Amino acid sequence: MRIEYDIKLGFKDVMIRPKRSTLKSRSEVRLEREFKFLHNPLTWSGIPIMAANMDTVGTFEMALALAEKQVFTAIHKHYTIEDWKNFTSEAPKQIENYIAVSTGTSDKDTNKLTQVFNIFPKLKFICIDVANGYSEHFTAFVRKTRAQFPDKVIIAGNVVTGEMVEELLISGADIVKVGIGPGSVCTTRVKTGVGYPQLSAIIECADAAHGLGGQIISDGGCTTPGDIAKAFGAGADFVMLGGMLAGHDESGGEIIEKNGEVFKKFYGMSSATAMEKHVGGVAEYRASEGKTVEVPYKGPVENTLQDILGGLRSTCTYVGAARLKELTKRTTFIRVNEQENRVYN
Ligand code: 5GP
Repeated sequence: MRIEYDIKLGFKDVMIRPKRSTLKSRSEVRLEREFKFLHNPLTWSGIPIMAANMDTVGTFEMALALAEKQVFTAIHKHYTIEDWKNFTSEAPKQIENYIAVSTGTSDKDTNKLTQVFNIFPKLKFICIDVANGYSEHFTAFVRKTRAQFPDKVIIAGNVVTGEMVEELLISGADIVKVGIGPGSVCTTRVKTGVGYPQLSAIIECADAAHGLGGQIISDGGCTTPGDIAKAFGAGADFVMLGGMLAGHDESGGEIIEKNGEVFKKFYGMSSATAMEKHVGGVAEYRASEGKTVEVPYKGPVENTLQDILGGLRSTCTYVGAARLKELTKRTTFIRVNEQENRVYN
């Protein structure tokens, strides 16, 4: 048994130190970024925020709303081929820049992925998503997918340590998804004791990925626009959101009315709710590692997005970053024992 003593930090442990700036207004800040990828000649430009590939968040409706603002959606893996056909026949052409097709690693998943790309060869992004990206089987699957789709951008995860980021990049991933246990409806840390505070995971994984010419997505744990700014400040190339985008018109999940108030159901993809919906129940050998919650109905996602992008622009002006790209370089974190004043919460 071994103990690592250097402290690992989460978003709640830090704030960003303000710095002298020449920017006069938030409107001067550019949030769009351009990326080149490790394993293919594609380039991407847009605002590097992503809706999570959860069936309550990574919906076609969400993708249409977010793509209008150049924001990305990892479409969840539970749509049928028929659903994809309907969507792509009506969606604007540029949608292909702002969506990923998600897949697990089973034969059934692979068959569906292959079918989707046979029908829509113009789609560019594949998101291979498993709860635990540390298994050899997963690395082998990434290698196989790279061989099958040499000209696509492959996102693979989730992991939280530099050596595994390197292994996935070397195995064919372009972008590695980082986060084990920080999610709003995740119970992995409770059920298994496994995890890694997200801010440190980002700092360490970004360093590993950038050294090889890859990128990372910080996935999970953002509860406010400030957390998203901290994730970018720590070195995340993209930030993925679940809970912050739940509860909107474009989100999945049934609507619930209670005493005149409206809520929407939101649940983890390993929750009993999701497993009952998609695989007919929780298998005997596993425990659910996700919660089911009711979030207050929040209206159109456009308003939330404006709040997020406004917050991020403001962060950039506080540290003098004219472009989101410069935010990491201009970020100094301070360790803190307090965050916001909650007297009126
Ligand atoms: P959030 O933004 O809500 O804090 O986190 C979203 C992320 O939580 C997702 O992108 C995914 O990585 C993770 N997640 C979603 N469902 C589950 C689940 O049931 N269990 C666990 N462990 N993580 C989940």
